[in-house]
Amino acid sequence: MTSSNHSQQLFERAGAVVPGGVNSPVRAFRAVGGTPPFMVSGRGPYLTDADDRQYVDLICSWGPMILGHAHPAVVSAIREAAGRGTSYGAPTPGEVELAEEIVARTPVEKVRLVNSGTEATMSAIRLARGFTGRSKIVKFAGCYHGHVDALLAAAGSGVATLGLPDTPGVTGATTADTIVLRYNDPAAVNAAFAEYGDEIACVITEACPANMGIVPPQEGFNARLKAVCERHGALLIIDEVLTGFRVTRSGWYGREGVAGDLMTFGKVMGGGLPAAAFGGRAEVMDLLAPSGPVYQAGTLSGNPLAMAAGLATLRNATGEVYAAVDRAASLVAGWASEALAKEGVPHRTQTAGSLFSVFFGPDEVKDFETAQKQNGQAYAAFFHAALDHGVYLPPSAFEAWFLSAAHDDAALDRVAEALPHAARAAAQVTL
Ligand SMILES: *Cc1c(COP(=O)(O)O)cnc(C)c1O
Repeated sequence: MTSSNHSQQLFERAGAVVPGGVNSPVRAFRAVGGTPPFMVSGRGPYLTDADDRQYVDLICSWGPMILGHAHPAVVSAIREAAGRGTSYGAPTPGEVELAEEIVARTPVEKVRLVNSGTEATMSAIRLARGFTGRSKIVKFAGCYHGHVDALLAAAGSGVATLGLPDTPGVTGATTADTIVLRYNDPAAVNAAFAEYGDEIACVITEACPANMGIVPPQEGFNARLKAVCERHGALLIIDEVLTGFRVTRSGWYGREGVAGDLMTFGKVMGGGLPAAAFGGRAEVMDLLAPSGPVYQAGTLSGNPLAMAAGLATLRNATGEVYAAVDRAASLVAGWASEALAKEGVPHRTQTAGSLFSVFFGPDEVKDFETAQKQNGQAYAAFFHAALDHGVYLPPSAFEAWFLSAAHDDAALDRVAEALPHAARAAAQVTL
């Protein structure tokens, strides 16, 4: 059914000049097979590819497009900003406004703006080490915090998708201070602190893990992390790059109320342009250069176009927007589950607010180990049938599905029609 001539040609050209033909690994469809469609435009809930095929987009740029594609307010903010010049290498009013918006929505007192979630977590860890004077960091298997060297141990997202246990190029010395624990396992956390308590600079965790599929923290898990960090003089870094400004107007914090000593943000706050941030208590943040000795910098940090897109997105992310995203997500999650159940495909739909993902296996997923037990072939069949029926899902069983406020009934109807076909395709592989 797919006739992807232009995408095929583009993918071949890309392969000649870009490793694997893509600039971020999961885009390459390695886990599901086939050629990725090259997208040429997006509007509201839809993407259009180079062969003029239209899809209902359930990736939303992996989270940022909470208002949908080409939202008029965001586009005009970017246009106006571009007309005034694209970068000055000097402070700008937009940076102040976006920082104020983040501080108003979240528990952080001060923020530093950067260009990607990776930079945010990398810088937060440097700052935590600078603040505590300690070396070791604790992370959880299956949590993804970007491609920071020290955090590429048992990471989720593309690392999980491609089944890379480890990454060549990351030296043993770099990860020697990284302690990897099982997620949702308070006993493992206590044991690590019992052994290394006075050497641990920080614990970094996803506010609600979403990069091994959705694996919500068990009741009280984040609060326990906070308490154990406090007791041992370590900092808790809560990574809200994916959840921030998406699950509530602040993020996962708005559901659970556990503040990190440091928190990281990205995705939604850039409105589809490269912008991210890390923030926290003023006492910790003031250790950053130029007010303190911990160095951190960026030529394009706080870029005026990204500030304009981020501000327009956050200012338009109203209560109605979150309600619309919640509703769309709960409908789609329900339909996916219904369609798979009807075909007898073993699956678990795990939801956390408007976040959800579908695991192709029978067991509840509480950690990375269970997440890895799913049937990848069944997901691949499901994925391709959905794509053939005009629904663009994440090309990996380890990723969340994303909705936007632009997913109206017309778009949702198309998803509802496609899912039974996808479930049938999965059943043919499973049974
Ligand atoms: C996406 C993501 C990152 C990395 O952000 P990039 O902008 O891709 O570098 C970090 N942490 C979490 C939780 C993410 O989902």
